[in-house]
Amino acid sequence: MIQLYNTLTREKEEFHPIEDNLVKIYSCGPTVYNYAHIGNLRAYIFMDTLRRMLKYNGFKIKHVMNITDVGHLESDADEGEDKMQKAAIRENKDPYEIARFYEKAFLKDLDDLNIDKPEIIARATEHITDMLEFVKELVKKGFAYETSKGIYFDISKLDKYPVLSNRNVEDQIAGARVEVDEEKRNSYDFAVWIKAPENHIMKWESPWGLSYPGWHMECSAMGRKYLGEQFDIHTGGIDHIPTHHENEIAQCKGLSGKIPAKYWMHVEFLQVDGGKMSKSLGNVYTLHQLKEKGIEPLAYKMFCFSAHYRNKLNFTFEGAKASAISLDRLRDGFLKHQSGNSIIDNSIIDNYRNKFTEAINDDLNIPLALSYVWEIVKNPNKSSQFSDLLLEFDKVLGLDIKNSENYIKSKKEINLPKDIIELLEKRKKARENKNWDLSDKIRDEIKEKGYIVKDTKNGVVVEKL
Ligand code: AMP
Ligand code: ZN
Repeated sequence: MIQLYNTLTREKEEFHPIEDNLVKIYSCGPTVYNYAHIGNLRAYIFMDTLRRMLKYNGFKIKHVMNITDVGHLESDADEGEDKMQKAAIRENKDPYEIARFYEKAFLKDLDDLNIDKPEIIARATEHITDMLEFVKELVKKGFAYETSKGIYFDISKLDKYPVLSNRNVEDQIAGARVEVDEEKRNSYDFAVWIKAPENHIMKWESPWGLSYPGWHMECSAMGRKYLGEQFDIHTGGIDHIPTHHENEIAQCKGLSGKIPAKYWMHVEFLQVDGGKMSKSLGNVYTLHQLKEKGIEPLAYKMFCFSAHYRNKLNFTFEGAKASAISLDRLRDGFLKHQSGNSIIDNSIIDNYRNKFTEAINDDLNIPLALSYVWEIVKNPNKSSQFSDLLLEFDKVLGLDIKNSENYIKSKKEINLPKDIIELLEKRKKARENKNWDLSDKIRDEIKEKGYIVKDTKNGVVVEKL
C-alpha cells in the first residue's frame, strides 16, 4: 500500500491511480531567467524520488513538467515586473536566448543530480495557442471577463474558492499584496491573459490585441493537453499552494468542473543558515557554487535525504560536507559488499526489502529508508546479496551507487598533490613524443612518492600505493 500526503485534504491518503497501472503527474517547472538555486533543486529532487518510488512499485509514469520561458510577473499574483524581460534587459539579450541558456543549465543540473527527466518537458512559449483557446473558452463560459488590463477570472462563479489552501480569501483582499483594481469584479480575481504594454517584449496576437498569458494559465493548459481533465498527482513547492495552484484549480474548474489532480503534493522550503535564501544576504547558492566548494551534486541530493520532504531543511556547508562523507561511506560499503562472499539468509534480505519499501511507500519517508541502507552497509558479513539489494534500493534513491568505483577513483585523482600533477603532465608530454624511457622514469619517480600510475583504455588512472 502506498500512502501520500494530499494537501487538498490535509491527510495521508491511500494512493490509487485513476488508470490501472499508469500514474499521470504534473510538476511545476522552473522559470528560466536565472540559474536554479539549491532550494529549487530540492523541489526537483523530491519530484524525482516520487516518480522513482512509483516506478519501484511497478507503475508506469506519464509525467509532464513545464518550462516557464514566457515571463511571469514578480509576485505570484502576477503583479510587478516581468522576470524574463528583466533578465533580458540585465543581460542585454533576447528573452528567448536567456530562456534557452538557463533551460540548458537547468537540465544539466538535473543530469548532475541523476534526476530522471519527466517524459514530457513543455515550454510555455510553444503552447500559446493552447493557452489562448483555454482563455477563450473561459470567457465563453462566463468564467472570465475583459478589463482594460486583460482577461480576469471571476472567482465568484465558482462553488468554492479557495479549495487548496486554508487561507481566508478575505485576508487576501486587495491592498494586502494585490494592487487595488477598480475594474475587477472581485478583489481576488486574477489575470488569465494580460494585455501587453508597448514596451513589453514577449507578446502574441489575440482577440484582445498583443498580449501574453497569466502565469497560472500555462500549467492549466499544458496539464490538460497532455494529461487530460483529471490526472493523478500535481507537485510543486509550498509557495505554490495559496496562489499558483489555487488559481490553476480555479481555471480548470471553470472549464471542466473538476479539480485537475487528485493528489496535490508540496515540498517544504530549503533554508540557508536558519533563514530564507535571499540575494541581499548573498546566500542563494547554485549547484555550481557547491561544486566549487568541493560538494558534488549527489552529495547535495544525499543532504536533501536527511529530512522528510514535508519538513523544512536547513542548508549549511558543514551539513553538506557531512553528507558528502556519508555518500563516500555508502560507496565504500557497497564496494566491500560487492567483493564479499558471505552467504546471507534470504529471509534477512526480504526483511530489509520489506522495511525499505514500507518506508518509501509511507509518504516517501526517505530518512527512515536510509536508516536501513546504513544497517546493510555496516553489516560485518560482506556479501554481494547486500550489494545487489543496495542497487535495487538505488532505483529509488538515484545516488548512482553502481558507479561507486569511478567516483572514488576520480576523487583520488582530484586530490593529487601538485608535484604529482606536474610529473603526470611531464609524463604525458613524454608519451606524446614517444619518449618511452622518460615516461617510465617519471612513472618510477611518481611511485617513489607513493602513487601508482596505470595506463588503461579509459586513460591514465592514478592510485595511492
Ligand atoms: P520557480 O523557478 O521560482 O518557479 O521555482 C521552481 C520551484 O522551486 C518551485 O516548485 C518552487 O516552489 C520551488 N522553490 C523555490 N524556492 C524554494 C526553496 N527555498 N526550497 C524548496 N523549493 C523551492
Ligand atoms: Zn505551475
